[in-house]
Amino acid sequence: METKSIGLYIHIPFCKSKCKYCDFVSFSNKEHLVDRYINCIKYEIKDIGLSNLRDYTEGKDDLINLKTIYIGGGTPSAIDSKYIKEIIDVIMQNFQVDNNVEITLEINPGTIDESKLKIYKESGINRLSIGLQSTNNNTLKRIGRIHTYEEFLNTYELSRNLGFDNINIDLMLALPEQTIDELVDGLKKVINLKPEHISIYSLILEEGTKLYEEIINEKKYELTDDNIERKMYWQTKEILENAGFIHYEISNFARKGYESKHNLACWNQEEYIGVGASAHSYSNNVRYSNTESLEEYIYNYENGKDIDNLIFHEKQNKESKMKEYMMLGLRKIQGVDINAFKNCFGQNPIYIFKQEIYKLTSEKLIMVDGNCIRLTNKGLDLANLVWEEFV
Ligand code: SF4
Repeated sequence: METKSIGLYIHIPFCKSKCKYCDFVSFSNKEHLVDRYINCIKYEIKDIGLSNLRDYTEGKDDLINLKTIYIGGGTPSAIDSKYIKEIIDVIMQNFQVDNNVEITLEINPGTIDESKLKIYKESGINRLSIGLQSTNNNTLKRIGRIHTYEEFLNTYELSRNLGFDNINIDLMLALPEQTIDELVDGLKKVINLKPEHISIYSLILEEGTKLYEEIINEKKYELTDDNIERKMYWQTKEILENAGFIHYEISNFARKGYESKHNLACWNQEEYIGVGASAHSYSNNVRYSNTESLEEYIYNYENGKDIDNLIFHEKQNKESKMKEYMMLGLRKIQGVDINAFKNCFGQNPIYIFKQEIYKLTSEKLIMVDGNCIRLTNKGLDLANLVWEEFV
């Protein structure tokens, strides 16, 4: 029997209200289901823990050692903090957990008080990811966030005072009516707080969201021009790097040693198990997820039909696994480590993907740099063209 180091993701799909840009599986009107949902989550954690690794494709049993735990959403801080403690307790009782385990909790400043943070700390949470998105209150309002910048500052200060020493701040760029000056001003404010990690994603306008309606149908705002969006990205990169942050993934920056272990493992194609509605898993070369329907997820667990929650996505063969390894690895700024690829697959990616690499290097989208294959600056702007070659 083999011991596997894996990540565990727990999805909490409840939010106080729906942000205008959000198309995640999250609900603002289903608080009445929280208690039953958490019971199912605990049941699913025990189920996986007891059988060590649920592998319905090969029936193999492996011992699991948890390297990372990530509680995301939704808004995990929107529910009573006793549930977060219960979830961590059940994990600890049912899994072998690494001594240096990274336990991340996503929190929203509009749902936080000191007593909640204290319980998180006591539960063993050692990394907080705070959704700020913008330091400008008008922008926050425009995108439907429930908090102000001042409330974020209060959350941040309380967290530091309670001893949280690994904090990520989530930001966004290319938001409606956001100017480059506003973004730069916000970055400076955030840098002054000295967080360990900053994630910054460009707005993606998703059909079916309120913001899509306002921009496309009501013409309330202009969509940010692509050139301005790219300018914002490059300015962000320059400012954060000058402030000592390491740009380690397309949208992620960290102080040395504070890269997100959980996300890095995903980009390194390592295994993880997802628990809860819509949570995705990757195990024994199989990608699968749970149903996105909260009601169906609960119904199936309460009626002993938990297997019905699973949705099969893909069983990888060596070729599809190698392609995905390239696609995920190229998200990292360091790129794909050629020796690591050889260790995994026993073959050299330069030969396996010689046509793709020739094409992409000719177009100056990627480069072979010593032992790494990585995106060029042009490739950072046009990463989608690179992914297409490895689909
Ligand atoms: S808090 Fe996060 S998950 Fe909830 S609606 Fe806003 S963006 Fe979506």
